[in-house]
Amino acid sequence: MSASELIDFSKLCIHTITTKPWDVETAIEKYANAGIGGITVWRQWLEGRDIEKIGNSIREHNLSLVSLCRGGFFPAADQQGVDAAIEDNRLAIREAAALGAPMIVLVCGAVPGQPLTKSRKQITDGIAAVLPLAEELGIKLAIEPLHPVYADDRSAINTMAQANAVCDELDHDLVGIAADVYHIWWDPDLEEQIRITGEKNRLFAFHICDWMTPTSDLLNDRGLMGEGCIDIKGIRKMVEATGFAGFNEVEVFSNRWWSQDQDEFLAAIKKAYLENS
Ligand code: ZN
Repeated sequence: MSASELIDFSKLCIHTITTKPWDVETAIEKYANAGIGGITVWRQWLEGRDIEKIGNSIREHNLSLVSLCRGGFFPAADQQGVDAAIEDNRLAIREAAALGAPMIVLVCGAVPGQPLTKSRKQITDGIAAVLPLAEELGIKLAIEPLHPVYADDRSAINTMAQANAVCDELDHDLVGIAADVYHIWWDPDLEEQIRITGEKNRLFAFHICDWMTPTSDLLNDRGLMGEGCIDIKGIRKMVEATGFAGFNEVEVFSNRWWSQDQDEFLAAIKKAYLENS
């Protein structure tokens, strides 16, 4: 690969779930060979693996380990569920430390039928409960607001403003926000909220993909940048205006792309990153 390719893709990160058919070893090899700068590892990719060894392999391949995805899902209908979620998040923090990842992305959770305000309190309390361990191991926690279509069972935090409110309440350097264009592109307050997030030094991550019209599956029909209707370049400008110098993380859940040749998909990701983000 040429030096210019290294420069072009040095701020491109890919989530292992984006190339779901590849196991973690394959993803590391393929991303590194393609000159990609970073990798975000999903926890399922670590099952049955020696986590420290995977972390070492990522570093040996000169990939930046951007984050571990994902913790969260704090809300529960009973105390047992609340306690179990907190324990699982502590486990995720230990896994991030073993891997050498500086940050965990939190998909915060919701319980169908439970008031969103109650879920938000459980989320805030849950993050507070795991913060001492995150502090001890130096792991950042990035709250990812999810599009309101997921307010029933995946996240009671649906806007940057709600995520900022939780951050304000916890008021801790290790608690910030993962801004994902898929979830926030529609928000009329987006520009202001991104600005506020940056000012408070809590814009921890930037995820990119696209919104398909029509969307055939609300979970697994995300588009590659440029395939849908999101003004990714515009949102990236807002993000970079805050001084954000982190990665552009490609996070595409797509049955359509997963069913295709993943080497061709990786080439398409690089092209879309250069042209449409
Ligand atoms: Zn995301």
